[in-house]
Amino acid sequence: MNIHEYQAKALLRSYGAPVSDGRAVFRAEEAKTAAGELDGPLWVVKAQIHAGGRGKGSFKEADAGEKGGVRLAKSVEEAEAEAKRMLGRTLVTHQTGPAGKQVNRIYIEDGSDIERELYLALLVDRTTSRISFVCSTEGGMDIEEVAASTPEKILSFSVDPATGYQPFHGRRIAFALGLEGKQVKECVGLMGILYRAFVEKDMEMLEINPLIVTDTGNLKVLDAKLGFDSNALYRQQDILALRDETEEDPKELEASKYDLNYIALDGEIGCMVNGAGLAMATMDIIKLYGSEPANFLDVGGGATKEKVTEAFKIITSDLQVKGILVNIFGGIMRCDVIAEGVIAAVKEVGLKVPLVVRLEGTNVEKGKEILNASGLNVIAADSLSDGAEKIVKAVKG
Ligand code: GDP
Ligand code: MG
Repeated sequence: MNIHEYQAKALLRSYGAPVSDGRAVFRAEEAKTAAGELDGPLWVVKAQIHAGGRGKGSFKEADAGEKGGVRLAKSVEEAEAEAKRMLGRTLVTHQTGPAGKQVNRIYIEDGSDIERELYLALLVDRTTSRISFVCSTEGGMDIEEVAASTPEKILSFSVDPATGYQPFHGRRIAFALGLEGKQVKECVGLMGILYRAFVEKDMEMLEINPLIVTDTGNLKVLDAKLGFDSNALYRQQDILALRDETEEDPKELEASKYDLNYIALDGEIGCMVNGAGLAMATMDIIKLYGSEPANFLDVGGGATKEKVTEAFKIITSDLQVKGILVNIFGGIMRCDVIAEGVIAAVKEVGLKVPLVVRLEGTNVEKGKEILNASGLNVIAADSLSDGAEKIVKAVKG
């Protein structure tokens, strides 16, 4: 789960990290008061969406020369005007995809004078099974370009969980970032704060781009992007309260209500599978036969008929879906439950695209009988590859 920049900054501030004072604005009328509560002489007005690249992004139907989702203002009035100009519009960045995201919240912040822009992130590094710090002297809006053309400028340091964060980690990072004098001590302190927040709040990712050196030579968190492990949210109620459902894919949101492991993708073949491994293999084989999956879906082991019905409804609600492949290897999951769920869903919402079903395992005969008796136009498949071949053929003709 992700949260907004202003929420991330409030959280990091509560841990003692240096961030500017700022105000979140939800309605245009609040913008003036919010800006007026800050000192100036520089204000930064920032679109709050769950995607990066806002500064370089652009609004739909933008005026010629209009700036992106991060704007500087030199007065309260200007800050108010910028906030009003951005609210309610759609911002497109390289992370939102062409559809963009509607801006429903704005963050107005005390502007900083920047000496240097650095990059810093914490993440769970699966290769070393450790939390790693990733840093670069080349922070700011071109970090993707740095990663692509000069990857040697991005350094990483892993932390042994047996010792946890130690000051020497912070000194190494400070050295890598070219910090000097009092900045080294600040860096050691700040890295400790970030590491503690990362572990205590079950984060998956913490990205500060840019971490800046201000004109007075101090470190400051100028942008913050935090991602949390959704499996740990049950014990992070304060984080869960920050969830902004309008930022999530409506299909994924619906799926999460039924505890379905569903991830929306860009392709044309909807998949309903049991088991994450089989679901991934199904996506692979769809690609092998020349098409693209519209989603990842693992209905799980002990799914009920109702859950299967909801899953099928979510798949059919996706307008990009041109065909559906049901691929079930019934172990704990029973094939007859799947068949009943599919039929119940089709009764409710209809079926306008080809449906290929491959059933195997527990109660397979019963499942096939139920499907045959239903009169549904189901294309039966004998194996995983047969199923994939048939659905791709049915969609591509
Ligand atoms: P992003 O584009 O979504 O990553 O948004 P950021 O919060 O990183 O802002 C983009 C860029 O705007 C930064 O890299 C800075 O160059 C600039 N910026 C953001 N805040 C300030 C500020 O307080 N003062 C100045 N001078 N520039 C800022
Ligand atoms: Mg940034």
